[in-house]
Amino acid sequence: MCHNIIDGRYHTPCGHFVSMSTRLQDCLRANCLFSRRHVHPVGCKSQFCIRLMALPVRNPIRVSPTVCSNCQMGGPVPVGAMGS
Ligand SMILES: [Zn+2]
Ligand SMILES: [Zn+2]
Ligand SMILES: [Zn+2]
Repeated sequence: MCHNIIDGRYHTPCGHFVSMSTRLQDCLRANCLFSRRHVHPVGCKSQFCIRLMALPVRNPIRVSPTVCSNCQMGGPVPVGAMGS
């Protein structure tokens, strides 16, 4: 199953993740609607094809020792409030 990879910055003190860019990780399966290897590019009606994307994965390309700009503005934003 394909999923999105969210590149971003992780703020250690507040535990928030700030996304910077999103890219698709292709699973390269012929039965996945989101893959470029999907064998039915138009009008797929196969019940064997995967129609859901897996949950996005966060990829912290930067780790910041400071709180995020949101928290600098005076929050408070509870940890884990972004997505779940
Ligand atoms: Zn896929
Ligand atoms: Zn298909
Ligand atoms: Zn924060």
